[in-house]
Amino acid sequence: MSLPLADHAAPTQCSGAGCRAPAAWAVHWRNPRIHGVERVKVWLACDAHRSALADYLGARGFPVVVTAVGVTVAAVP
Ligand SMILES: [Zn+2]
Repeated sequence: MSLPLADHAAPTQCSGAGCRAPAAWAVHWRNPRIHGVERVKVWLACDAHRSALADYLGARGFPVVVTAVGVTVAAVP
């Protein structure tokens, strides 16, 4: 499978520990204790790690928004 990302400079590899799979999902999150509402952190995830990464953040009480990779989120409410 190839994705039309030739002009996209951002890394597209999954953020899962030890995972080198191409990312299909973007997990947008922030830590409300240290990040303002305008701050958005992004982890990239493959299909296998999408829910694990989102659950990891959700378990810490962090707001999380999952989108297809390449989608920009202005804020994580
Ligand atoms: Zn992965």
